[in-house]
Amino acid sequence: MKYKSFPWFQLKILSGARVFSRYCKMHEWSIAEGIVRSLEAFAEKNSIKRFVAVEINVGELAMLDLDVLNEALKTISQEHERTRNTVFKLRIEHVTFTCNKCGCKWGLQRGLETIKGSEDLMIEDLEGGYDLPLHYMPELVYALMRCPSCGSRDYKVEGGRGVRIISVTFENGGVGEHVS
Ligand SMILES: [Zn+2]
Repeated sequence: MKYKSFPWFQLKILSGARVFSRYCKMHEWSIAEGIVRSLEAFAEKNSIKRFVAVEINVGELAMLDLDVLNEALKTISQEHERTRNTVFKLRIEHVTFTCNKCGCKWGLQRGLETIKGSEDLMIEDLEGGYDLPLHYMPELVYALMRCPSCGSRDYKVEGGRGVRIISVTFENGGVGEHVS
């Protein structure tokens, strides 16, 4: 069986404001834990024996490290019977910005270029390097970015936010049936 679209599985990305350091790798781990917990709760309600595969969309604005998230999912899922050996497929969901003034459309990379070089916006990390605070507080994108064409700060943001489980393939109790 395969379920599509899980609005109630929308996991809120916690603000990274409290985590001004490389320790934010912990962030991926707490998200992985949240995903496995959601799957457990869903399995409980629907008498699911085991998840075979889980597809997850990761919003580009969440700026998560997919390798770390994948590693965390692999480790945490092994601790639970229903998610043991489940295949997790992670996909980046891109964001599109549309200017309300001139209609220009752009993606994250081009948008980030509009705020690059603003050194007063940089914060120092633990290793003494500098990074844009965006990595820790994706919400800042709204305050910092400008339309690359006309410079306006009035724009729409579509997609690219949050972490969503978009489909799961599972085995039912005893039957072992699954269709993809
Ligand atoms: Zn514009």
